[in-house]
Amino acid sequence: MSDPSESVRVEGVHLLRDRVALQEALAELREGGDSLALVPTMGYLHEGHLSLVDQAHGSADTVLLTIFVNPLQFGEGEDLEHYPTDLEGDVRKARARGVTHIFAPPVSEMYPDGPPVIRVDPGPMGKRLCGISRPHHFPGVLTVVARLFALIRPDVAVFGRKDYQQAVLIRQMVRDLALDVDVQVGPLVREHDGLALSSRNVYLSPIQREVAPRFQAELARAASDFLGGMTEARHLVSGVRDRLERGGGMRVEYIEVVHPETLLPMETARVGAVLAGAVHIGSTRLIDNVLLGVRDEDPRLPPSDRSRRA
Ligand code: AMP
Repeated sequence: MSDPSESVRVEGVHLLRDRVALQEALAELREGGDSLALVPTMGYLHEGHLSLVDQAHGSADTVLLTIFVNPLQFGEGEDLEHYPTDLEGDVRKARARGVTHIFAPPVSEMYPDGPPVIRVDPGPMGKRLCGISRPHHFPGVLTVVARLFALIRPDVAVFGRKDYQQAVLIRQMVRDLALDVDVQVGPLVREHDGLALSSRNVYLSPIQREVAPRFQAELARAASDFLGGMTEARHLVSGVRDRLERGGGMRVEYIEVVHPETLLPMETARVGAVLAGAVHIGSTRLIDNVLLGVRDEDPRLPPSDRSRRA
């Protein structure tokens, strides 16, 4: 894998499959004085990922997208083996949005010495919300992101608000470990009916797909209850939970009102608080969140753009 010819130029994109090819491409970019924005993904790209690419273009000369399904962040019995992939489609979509460099290494290139012995501990913030049911997830995420930062040394890295807890943890890691990266968080892109775009939406059957938008609709309803004066978190939370459970077809894992930076639970919601949740529809786990009292609406795709509901 160390043959530089592995750096394939696919229709104007440097598809970098190993670390040597990556370092060569980075050296070339640095020689030209380019600033670099990193957009890390697990691939199977959708408009949410691509909106981060758009944002990255506004912050640096060159955008480097990474595609890596990181085994460290999957727990036993999760969907690592089934995670959807479409490298060719991803390259095409990324290229159409002006991406010139894609780093898509195999596991053996990302972790050449085997699974890392030293991992980044997310601390108490990683043990809440999604960290309760997925204890290995955030240590895996932070470890791979730290490794990507070390390999690529980007000026900017862009993450999505869809994974709110992840974005907060990455910001905290950058502060705590004095990493020299400007972390930006992009908006949450939704389907026309409100469902948050996710590569995992492809797992939903047509019937489950019909049920799924209720998750966002109930979070949005709580957000308007908040605007109407309901500030007690337990009322907001129980309202969402009860309505989702009554509606059927969905199992609630958690719904919480948390502080936007500390992720600590709030008894009384304030403007900017995060109403976040995770639900299970069949064997598919979905996460979503809304910011209470914050006006700017999440971007939605038009109804016609439904070629891939991923
Ligand atoms: P993933 O490929 O799921 O690991 O996601 C890669 C990046 O894209 C992460 O920073 C996610 O937060 C972000 N992302 C995923 N879905 C969305 C979405 N619907 N809107 C905005 N960003 C997203």
